[in-house]
Amino acid sequence: MANASLSKRQAILDAVPSAKPVIREMTQAEWDLRVNHAAALRMGYHLNWNRSINNHITVRLPGGEGRFLMNPRGSGWDEATASSLVTTDYDGATHSHSGVRLAPAGFNFHSGILKARPDLNCVIHVHPIEAVVLSATMGGLKIVDQPGCYIYDEWGEHDFEGFAQEADEVPRILRDLGDDKHLLMMWNHGLLSVGRSIAEAFFYMLKFVEACRLYERVLATGDEVRTLPKEVLEFTRSQIAAKRASPDFGLEEWNYFLRTAERLYPDLAT
Ligand SMILES: [Zn+2]
Repeated sequence: MANASLSKRQAILDAVPSAKPVIREMTQAEWDLRVNHAAALRMGYHLNWNRSINNHITVRLPGGEGRFLMNPRGSGWDEATASSLVTTDYDGATHSHSGVRLAPAGFNFHSGILKARPDLNCVIHVHPIEAVVLSATMGGLKIVDQPGCYIYDEWGEHDFEGFAQEADEVPRILRDLGDDKHLLMMWNHGLLSVGRSIAEAFFYMLKFVEACRLYERVLATGDEVRTLPKEVLEFTRSQIAAKRASPDFGLEEWNYFLRTAERLYPDLAT
């Protein structure tokens, strides 16, 4: 990816069949971010996080211009390439392609979160079946194993209000996410994660989805659940406090997923 040719960096290819590229220069940093963004989409697909052409990952572009990358409406996560990702802004103007469309609900709250929270650079929203199942239960998710402790007390809860394309829902999503959490259980809907980096948001989503899958299987046994005491959950969380605070949190795991995406999807960096 570091050896992207100038022609690749100049040519923004069609995001969807109806879209037309806008040819322009971009920095190596933007190209590298695009490759990582496409890898996150491909690996999310690989892990069954998204449904059909729905769900989005957004990534803030450096430079302080309020611009960010978003996967375009009408394309699957398994079709994502570095050059297919759309540069947009908080107003929904597109700067990389013409004729491309952005999904209204996804754009609404992804842009709202990135605009309100300059400390965040990546937002992931998905509908994995195991998580949607738990989102439709009264009890929701409980942490009952070791890896789950990474996300103990790390998620807020947001009630379903309809397709999340109304601007007035954004403040409630921000309120329910909170300023110090990285995850949101969207009842009767799906999951959302945020992070300072793609690596951090991806790591938290990975743990969220895995915890949902595990807990659903525990419930399916029909046996009484062996719950973890609050003191143990809090102690385990304290053991990883420094790791979680690091700006490189999740990077080791992300580098593995990036290598996997580059291995499985040779067209990723095109
Ligand atoms: Zn959704």
